[in-house]
Amino acid sequence: MNHFEIRELEGKGRAMVATKDFVVDEIIFEEEPFVSHQFSWNAAYGYAACDHCMRPLETLVENVHRLANKPVAVPLLEHDPTTPWLQQFTQCQRCKVRYCSEDCMVEAKKRYHRVACMGAFRNDDTHPINVLNEIWKKMHYPPETGTIMLIVRLMAMYEQSSKKAEFLEQLQSFQALIINREQKIYHKMLGENFEQQMEQLYGAFCNAFKSEEFAMFTTPDAFKTLMGILGTNSQGIATSVLAQWVTKVSDLPLPEADKTQLDQVIDDIYAKVGEFAGEFLNNEGSGLYILQSKINHSCVPNAQSTFPYSNDIVVLKALTPIQKGQEICISYLDDCQLERSRHSRHKMLRENYIFICECPKCRAQASDPDVTSDEEDDDDEMDDYDDDDEMD
Ligand SMILES: [Zn+2]
Ligand SMILES: [Zn+2]
Ligand SMILES: [Zn+2]
Repeated sequence: MNHFEIRELEGKGRAMVATKDFVVDEIIFEEEPFVSHQFSWNAAYGYAACDHCMRPLETLVENVHRLANKPVAVPLLEHDPTTPWLQQFTQCQRCKVRYCSEDCMVEAKKRYHRVACMGAFRNDDTHPINVLNEIWKKMHYPPETGTIMLIVRLMAMYEQSSKKAEFLEQLQSFQALIINREQKIYHKMLGENFEQQMEQLYGAFCNAFKSEEFAMFTTPDAFKTLMGILGTNSQGIATSVLAQWVTKVSDLPLPEADKTQLDQVIDDIYAKVGEFAGEFLNNEGSGLYILQSKINHSCVPNAQSTFPYSNDIVVLKALTPIQKGQEICISYLDDCQLERSRHSRHKMLRENYIFICECPKCRAQASDPDVTSDEEDDDDEMDDYDDDDEMD
C-alpha cells in the first residue's frame, strides 16, 4: 500500500502528498523506471554497464584506473560493489551489448531489444540510430543530463508492445511542457543557440524512424513533445562504482583514526580522477519514472531520490521528518546548484524545467539582488543568452 497520493494542490498543480508521517531516512517508495539508458558519452567512453539496468560491469579498480588514466591504489576491495554480478554477466549474441544477468537480458528482449537489437550495425557510424546519437552528443557535451537514446528505446518499446494504447497512455502521463506561455518561459533547447542543432536532430530522428508505424511521433509537434518529456522528466541515475564504494566504506564502523585516513584516501582518489576525467560525474545515465516524475521541486527538499542497488531502481527517502498531509518535494538541482543564489537557481529551473520556484527558501530570499556572480555562471552552458529573454 502506498503512503502518499498524487493530487492537485491549490496554486501548485499536481503534487505528491504524504498520507502518513515519515521519519528521516524512511523509504517512501521504490520504483523501476518506465525506461532508462546510459548517457551517450559514458557509452562512448567505454564505461561498461548493463544495457538494461545500468549496473556497472567493471571492477572498482578498473573503473578508477580508466577514469584517472593510470593505476590508482584502492583499499577495502572486499567492498567493491561489482563483485557479485561480474561473475554472472552475459551478452546479446547478435549485437554483443552486455547485461549484468540473464534476467536483465530476458527482460530487455521482452520489452524492446527484439526490435532494438542492431546486430552487426551497432558499430556502423552510418546507421541512422548512430547518426542520431552522434548529433545528440555534439549538442550535449558532458556533464549530460539526458540522452536521445531514451527516446530511441521508447520507440522500440512502442514497436514491440502488444498493448500500444496502454503504452501511449503511460507516455502521456509525463508532463511534456517546453513552453510556459503564461509565464513566458521556455526550455533552453528552444533557445537560439540550439535552433540549428534541433533541426538537425529532428531530421536524423525522422530518418531513423521512417516507417509508417512511427508517423505519430515524427511530426514536428510530436517530436517537441518527446523532447519535452526527455528534458523535464529525466532523472539522473547514480550507479557509479566509485560513489557506491565510497558510500559503503563511509558507513563502516571504523576507529576515528582509520576513518580520517580513509577520508584522505577517498579525497585522493577523487583528485586523481578529477585531474584526468574532469569534474567527477556521479550519474551514469538517466531514466523516466512514472511516479517519481510527479514530485515537485523545492530548494529545501524533504525527500531525495537514491539508487542503493547500483542499478536504475529509484528509492525515494525522507530527508527530513514529513507529516501526513504535507507535500513531498525533491530537488531537481544537485547539491552544489542548491547552494547558489536564488537568481541562479531560478535561471536553471526556468531553462530546464519551465517553472518559477516559489518554495519557502525562494520566498525568503525574494528581496535578494538579482545578480549572478561570474563564478556561479561558470558551468552554465546557456550563459550567452539573455537572462531576460522572453517568448514573443
Ligand atoms: Zn542488469
Ligand atoms: Zn542485441
Ligand atoms: Zn526554490
